[in-house]
Amino acid sequence: MQFYSTKNANLKASGTEAIVRGLAPDGGLYLPSEFRAFPMEKLSRLTGEEISVKVLASLFEEFDEKELSECVRAAYSENFENGDISPLVPVGDAWSMELFHGPTCAFKDVALCLLPHLLTRSMKKCGIKDEVCILTATSGDTGSAALFGFSDVKGTKIIVFYPDGGVSPMQRKQMVTCPGKNTSVTAVKGNFDDAQTGVKAIFAAPPEVSGVRFSSANSINIGRLAPQIAYYFKAYHDLMNEGKIRLGDKVNFVVPTGNFGDILAGYFAKKMGLPVGKLVCASNENRVLTDFFETGVYDRRREFRLTSSPSMDILISSNLERLISMTVGTEKCGELMNQLKETGVYTLEDKALKQLKQEFSAGYADDKETRKTIRETFEKFGYLMDPHTAVAHAVYNKWKKSAEGNDLPTVILSTASPYKFTKAVLEALGQVPTADEYENLVKLSDLTKTAIPAALSRLADAEVKHPDGIAVSEMQEFVKIRAGK
Ligand SMILES: *Cc1c(COP(=O)(O)O)cnc(C)c1O
Repeated sequence: MQFYSTKNANLKASGTEAIVRGLAPDGGLYLPSEFRAFPMEKLSRLTGEEISVKVLASLFEEFDEKELSECVRAAYSENFENGDISPLVPVGDAWSMELFHGPTCAFKDVALCLLPHLLTRSMKKCGIKDEVCILTATSGDTGSAALFGFSDVKGTKIIVFYPDGGVSPMQRKQMVTCPGKNTSVTAVKGNFDDAQTGVKAIFAAPPEVSGVRFSSANSINIGRLAPQIAYYFKAYHDLMNEGKIRLGDKVNFVVPTGNFGDILAGYFAKKMGLPVGKLVCASNENRVLTDFFETGVYDRRREFRLTSSPSMDILISSNLERLISMTVGTEKCGELMNQLKETGVYTLEDKALKQLKQEFSAGYADDKETRKTIRETFEKFGYLMDPHTAVAHAVYNKWKKSAEGNDLPTVILSTASPYKFTKAVLEALGQVPTADEYENLVKLSDLTKTAIPAALSRLADAEVKHPDGIAVSEMQEFVKIRAGK
């Protein structure tokens, strides 16, 4: 199986090369040249681990199933509470797929616990003896999950940039207390897009550091995306085994979306044969994707808003490039991405938009609706959720009643623990949070009779290891120094 650049079908790489490089040499993102059919008739009898292995094996044929089992086991067996990566919980007439039972309490753990194992093995298979240095811009959850995943993994370093003021206090604390000797973390003065653009510029012209090669842990890495495909199959597996659906029935997925990675994994699952109804793209007030799916115009020239769902505060959804490339071809995709870079806007032709609308719906919820949804869902169903997940529930409630809505069984992806965003959740429940995040944890737990995840309660006494912030213009120098250490 080959992978090719979103901007050039002739620029090919093997799976292991694609994982090692992150981005293609022309700055495009890697796409698999085909989607092999998943053995759906076996799905109900597979374990979660076997589902992950089968999905990965169909994409990365340089690995055999035994090796992939080792990777999956190393990634998940100890890191996830209860061993189930993606439990389904009924909420009203839908199901919440909880992806936040990993070490940093957000869904990015699922991919980022696995990526270091895929990456270090891929490097060996490619004959690379250099160390790999992971560079990541984060709007919060990627940073902590990547740091945790790579922390003290032999042959790796990791450098994380987060937007100053653009992450929750708890996310910040998780990152700046990361003890790994191979980890560097710093705030950047700017928003997520500034930080991400800075990282892209470094990849385009990396500093010379001998014995080190740079790679990405952002959701643009195909090794990040692949593990996420598996939980769509797992949700379907669970619904079948609970007797809620029969093999072949269609299921909708509603996905709280920022960089478009998670929902794209759902689209890949569909391409591999999962019976998916609609994929509903849920955005917050940074509704650039809602507008795009409505009009075909992707226009980033708008005010950037900080919301209560910071991991979705994004105006350039990098992974959308993959969907565009799959829809209009690599050449046209290259043109459109160039327009986006130069003018901040591009327009998809009507025919392509129509095609996308058969697969995707889109909607958004503002902070007020998000708070209301958190409160009402807790009051009605006793189900507590974080603001990212609540955006998806709010969008689902509206979508269901809209002309585009349908009555198929629906799974809503739940991407973070409510305890990771305690302040916003307490406010939504009509409480007044204090300035102390740890008091808020206890307050939320007392109020809702739910348990504080251990991964968060232990942060209270953790020592700060990464204190400073830098300007965007200093990022290059920061990388040179830290990667060379
Ligand atoms: C990253 C993140 C998202 C958005 O996922 P994308 O793959 O970037 O679309 C949603 N919710 C949470 C909690 C996240 O951390």
